[in-house]
Amino acid sequence: MPIDPRLIELVKGSGNFYFPVERDGASVPLWASRYTNSVLRSRALWQQRLSPRVVQLLHRAFSEMLVGFYESAGAGKLTADRADDLARSLRAHLARLEIQLATITGDGALAAAGIAANGHAQGVRQTVGVQAGIETSFTQVPAQALDLMQIRRFAESEAVGHSQFIRTLYNRRVNSAENFKVFDDLIRQFVIEGRSWTDSTRDIAGLLAKGDSALMQEMVSHLGARGGKLRNEISQSFWADLNELAKQDEFYAKVIGDTKLRAQTILYDGRRIAISEVNIAHFEADRLAAETSPVVQAVTWNLSGRHASIGIACECDVLANADYHGLGTGVYYAENCPSRPHPFCGCTLGYVLRAPADWNKAKDTPRRPIQLSESTIEDFLNQANEKARSDKTLSITPKRIDRVLENVNGLTRKAHSVWAGRLEEVAA
Ligand SMILES: [Zn+2]
Repeated sequence: MPIDPRLIELVKGSGNFYFPVERDGASVPLWASRYTNSVLRSRALWQQRLSPRVVQLLHRAFSEMLVGFYESAGAGKLTADRADDLARSLRAHLARLEIQLATITGDGALAAAGIAANGHAQGVRQTVGVQAGIETSFTQVPAQALDLMQIRRFAESEAVGHSQFIRTLYNRRVNSAENFKVFDDLIRQFVIEGRSWTDSTRDIAGLLAKGDSALMQEMVSHLGARGGKLRNEISQSFWADLNELAKQDEFYAKVIGDTKLRAQTILYDGRRIAISEVNIAHFEADRLAAETSPVVQAVTWNLSGRHASIGIACECDVLANADYHGLGTGVYYAENCPSRPHPFCGCTLGYVLRAPADWNKAKDTPRRPIQLSESTIEDFLNQANEKARSDKTLSITPKRIDRVLENVNGLTRKAHSVWAGRLEEVAA
């Protein structure tokens, strides 16, 4: 059954929800605001507390690795026959970091999924309460959401499994052969110059830290005197010395540039991967919890405010405006609502709530999404460009239309087949 378009506007306008009202101007029923407030509180908890916490843990793990490596330095000069020891120590520290990053990311994803499930669970408790005939449990939602994330990803053929996916990514990024080659070159140069062990480890640690201020802060706040020592060693003058060295020596100029780049890859990519994983886990659990909730009828695709300011009309503009299921513009069944098209997509779900009389009724069976045509996509992209608050909008070429078309149709189709596949599994 299609949903009243005026009410969809209401959900999108408030950015949150719509409730079944009989006539214009009716006030929000208490139960509806209770439900939505629970969900939004949990969303805020995740955005304001959990997300920064994950970054903080990553910085902590990284700074611990740096200090540990620095402290592993041997005494005296770095000689050719002992250069391997230094290289091995670096490898061992980076390998340990890789495992920690994967653990932090995995834990963060599970916590985010738990927070999302809890928002809906609280909402149900405060609205439905303990009404006879309505029994809903959200306890399985977080773990199931992480599984589904993996299945969807597989269907979207991005990668293999959740934890395996993270491990593979970090492996490629952190422990890659290119990373080590750069540092091996640097170590060889240190041997030639007859540098001391401590100076050599300090310089490598310094290059890995790359003067990242958040990291530097974490080094002191968590590791105290130990972190403070290394931080002082690689403070301002260290960078000035390195720049001076790079000016005088071509080899150093190259190797310092390369190692900085590698270091950037290791920390920045770790941070990006972790944040996007936690984001996706939250979104997936939110979707699954909406599916599980007797109070939620459907979800809406609420376009992130960032989109208009960036000025790049994309898949999200289409998802927020298309009517894939005949439910209304940007309205989806929670069951087969597509995944977010970009790893850093800030779009959120809105909730179309059911009237209390419907809470104990079965929900509509999700219909298969239609496939949008090129001209529809083009229209949505053009409309997004018109609304953009940026003067640098991306021009809409046939190639771009094709790409967006393939992505959005693919995402909706695959979300449907994952849902249908789950039903088959249950039946088997
Ligand atoms: Zn988006």
